[in-house]
Amino acid sequence: MLSCEGRAKMKRSAVCKVDLTQIDGDGDFACPSCGVIISPDDETEAVYTILETKMKKDALEELIIRCNGCGTEIRLTGFLSPQLGATKPEIPPR
Ligand SMILES: [Zn+2]
Repeated sequence: MLSCEGRAKMKRSAVCKVDLTQIDGDGDFACPSCGVIISPDDETEAVYTILETKMKKDALEELIIRCNGCGTEIRLTGFLSPQLGATKPEIPPR
C-alpha cells in the first residue's frame, strides 16, 4: 500500500507515495517513516506542511506534503474520484 523510493539515491529525505484510494476510512494515514497520523483534511499544518498542490481542472490531483515529525516528503495521489458514467457495473449480491 505504501511505498518509498529513492532512499538510496536521495540523501536528504525519502519520498513516499500514498494512494488515498488504497486507504480505508476518512483518508487518514500513518506516515510511512515515523508513523504519525496524517489527515489530509487537517488544514492546520500542525502535523505536516503542504509543499505543492497539483490541480487538474477543478479537482485536486496530487498533493505533496512534508511530515513535520521526520521530514519525509509524501506524495499523495488518488484524490480524483471515479468519473461518473465510467464506473464498472456492480455485481448484484445473490
Ligand atoms: Zn513522519
